[in-house]
Amino acid sequence: MKTSAKLLIIAALAVAVIAAVALKQNHKKSAAGAGDSPPAAAQSAAAPSATAASAAPASTQTVAAKLPKLIDLGADKCIPCKMMAPILEELKREYAGRLEVEFIDVWKNPAAGRAYGIQMIPTQIFYDAEGKERFRHVGFFGKEDILAKWKELGVDLLAKQSAGVVREEPVKPDTRPRDKVCFMCDGDVDPKTRTVVKGQSEQRIFCSPHCYFIYFSSLVGADPKTEDSKVSVTDWVSGNLVPASAAVYIYGMDAKGRPTIKAFGEKEAATNEQRSSGGNLLAWDVLRSKELATRCAFCDRAVYPEDACVVKFGTTRGYGCCTHCSLGVAARFKQDIEVEANDGLTGEPIRVKTLDGQIASIAPPTAIAWFGQTKNAEGQWVSAGCFKQGFFVNQDNLRKWLDARPAMTGRQITIAQALADKMKLTPEQIAKACKLGECK
Ligand SMILES: [Zn+2]
Ligand SMILES: [Zn+2]
Repeated sequence: MKTSAKLLIIAALAVAVIAAVALKQNHKKSAAGAGDSPPAAAQSAAAPSATAASAAPASTQTVAAKLPKLIDLGADKCIPCKMMAPILEELKREYAGRLEVEFIDVWKNPAAGRAYGIQMIPTQIFYDAEGKERFRHVGFFGKEDILAKWKELGVDLLAKQSAGVVREEPVKPDTRPRDKVCFMCDGDVDPKTRTVVKGQSEQRIFCSPHCYFIYFSSLVGADPKTEDSKVSVTDWVSGNLVPASAAVYIYGMDAKGRPTIKAFGEKEAATNEQRSSGGNLLAWDVLRSKELATRCAFCDRAVYPEDACVVKFGTTRGYGCCTHCSLGVAARFKQDIEVEANDGLTGEPIRVKTLDGQIASIAPPTAIAWFGQTKNAEGQWVSAGCFKQGFFVNQDNLRKWLDARPAMTGRQITIAQALADKMKLTPEQIAKACKLGECK
């Protein structure tokens, strides 16, 4: 087996040696074909590389990347190139966030091949994180050899991301009084929009009716009528609590198109306010149906599209209420997904594509995930909930984001890890995801 595999590789290498780069340029190919005259072919490739050098000198070419990068120049019909393809795919998946891998088909795109000044395919070029070319290899290059070469170049891809941010203890404990903190999002409670749910022994405070509806959508088997009777909202005019189902609401929109909700105990007061502020006057039932209209495609929680990640799968365009939930859509529907998220600090776009439950691509490749966690009563680390998760284009942004959240605990993980955490969930676990008292 092994010997035959080796022979195959040797045969492939032989093909590689004679596989001249078919750069379509001024040089007219002889009728004999490149395969019959390797020296001539090598020469012909050398000539255009000299012309290309003036435009983009291959040796000093820099690649705008903050990660080390491996570029494989080949063609989909060349045998050793075909053998490289699964290796490149594996490297791309296994080292997502640590190594950028790019394949350039120089037969389909000869200009790209010329820019690198290559003479044979496949050729692999190794760039360090600064974009400086460090090494070039011609012919088939095995996965272990590639990893060994990176190590030799001082880039240890096998090393755990030791520099990952871990925060097990809050930098500063959260000293806000509990009745000033939203039960759902942990945000400050605005006294103008405070929403209260009276339980049997305790009451839960929400920053707004919106957070109440997120809470409602996290309840298992809740009867809306029973739940309604427990909810009070703050009258916009007097600041007093009034029964939610009897109140009238102005449903407006902020500058970003995100809904705003004001509650009124008296319809007249609402009508007066509406004259100056605009918006629609709604009863509680209509407000509920609006609030519950858009759900997280993973955990089914109510979510505003303006706050959500976009998740595309098949012909569906759905939403993930948080970055981690958006990856969970791949697990729930067993489909390849495309996630459009935003950096938690700057809002910069982060795109993630999956293939067969694994990461296919991350853009930018430096993007990482924050897994917000807290210790439960048994001292185990558990998810701190959807509002404590995020993606960041780099660790710098994560650190700045954490600086502004001294009470936050958790750890930095790769986006590949965040996806893997979701992919291992059973359908039963997915059904319980983010449900109050059910989710782990
Ligand atoms: Zn809230
Ligand atoms: Zn969700």
